[in-house]
Amino acid sequence: MPDNLPLSLLKIRSSMEDFIASNLSLESDELEFSDGRRRDIITASKAAGFYYKTQSQEFGGQPANLLELTMLREQLAATNSIYARFVFGPGPGVLHQARGKLKQDYLDPLMRGEKQMAFGFTEPEDADRPTFAVLDNSHLTLTGRKSYVTEGASADFISVLVNLEDTIGKKLGTLMVVVDKDAQGVSIENAFTSLDGGAHLAMGFDAVQVPVDNMVGKPGEGMPRALKNIADVRLMVAAESIGICLWVLAYLEKKLTAKHRSGHALADREGVRLRYADLRIETYVGRSVLYRTARLAIGKENSVNEISACKIYCTELAGRVVDQAVQLSGGQALITGHPLEKLYRQVRSLRFVEGANDLLRLNIAKGKFDLGLGKL
Ligand SMILES: Cc1cc2nc3c(=O)[nH]c(=O)nc-3n(C[C@H](O)[C@H](O)[C@H](O)COP(=O)(O)OP(=O)(O)OC[C@H]3O[C@@H](n4cnc5c(N)ncnc54)[C@H](O)[C@@H]3O)c2cc1C
Repeated sequence: MPDNLPLSLLKIRSSMEDFIASNLSLESDELEFSDGRRRDIITASKAAGFYYKTQSQEFGGQPANLLELTMLREQLAATNSIYARFVFGPGPGVLHQARGKLKQDYLDPLMRGEKQMAFGFTEPEDADRPTFAVLDNSHLTLTGRKSYVTEGASADFISVLVNLEDTIGKKLGTLMVVVDKDAQGVSIENAFTSLDGGAHLAMGFDAVQVPVDNMVGKPGEGMPRALKNIADVRLMVAAESIGICLWVLAYLEKKLTAKHRSGHALADREGVRLRYADLRIETYVGRSVLYRTARLAIGKENSVNEISACKIYCTELAGRVVDQAVQLSGGQALITGHPLEKLYRQVRSLRFVEGANDLLRLNIAKGKFDLGLGKL
């Protein structure tokens, strides 16, 4: 239990415990994904009010602050259920504050769950030049490639980060642009899955004509918008990492205290106890980092560097905890389908998503050396 949470949050935490017990208990989870079960979870989450916590009031939501979301995300990840990710409804992401046609055609249907969005940020390694768009009076012409568009196959539209220029080549800064997946000139270069089981697309954009209404914000706002959203998502990844650690510790407690073929529970061995204690110590540290950062994030001060530090620490911690848990559980933990085998694959990708950890490290150093920012 995280310390010193206000009573109001403790009540919400307790409601989430009830929700989890009724809807996400591991025993009742099928091994194979069931779409009916997904829909049931969404219905139950709407009835319990959790679904709306990532949505703004203008969409009928009851938005939670980042401390509350961190607490709930950690709780959900600690179930290790494949359905946990359906408890919260879709958030606006980079489309927050969209107005006019952009809101009507993309944001509103996204929030109602009628359309799906994917995010095109990462450029291919062999790109000659980053994806760019030329702004004419009524439209943009977008050209380039994006190499890693998660869930692109099921998306209706992609929010693409481009470098914007005018018709005579004058640079106008970065911009997020909404591109329909079925627009002329959009192609799928490759569909692939990653180690964690995620499905992705590599996409091409060949002089795609996009109406100016699809510009998200103003020229120059592309990268700041992407980064604003990314700070929230990085905290989410950190909360999920700590949730995973909590699940692993609970799993190990059962495993190590159960009968072992040697005649002694493994928890009776001092060497095993030492390793298990280290995992608890590290998780305690990680959880402390997570909640301190979430508290900073709801305050008024800049916490970009702390959120990056938290994402790095918690994702790397989850990697170490799962790796040690595999070791303590023995070879059966690596059999395909074992929960630790699945987690072992899943946690590896966390060190890349929402900013590769080493690049975030560089940002933390830059924050201090160049901008005088960052807390200890
Ligand atoms: C599961 C998964 C889902 C993803 N989903 C999406 C998505 O939906 N949309 C999207 O746009 N992208 C997505 N990505 C891509 C992800 O954002 C990138 O993998 C990540 O930003 C790193 O970029 P890269 O893979 O091109 O690696 P590179 O930028 O080539 O870097 C590789 C490594 O080189 C080192 N390195 C690179 N630059 C420097 C430097 N300047 N100084 C020191 N070291 C450096 C770092 O160790 C880095 O990890 C996803 C990735 C994964 C694994």
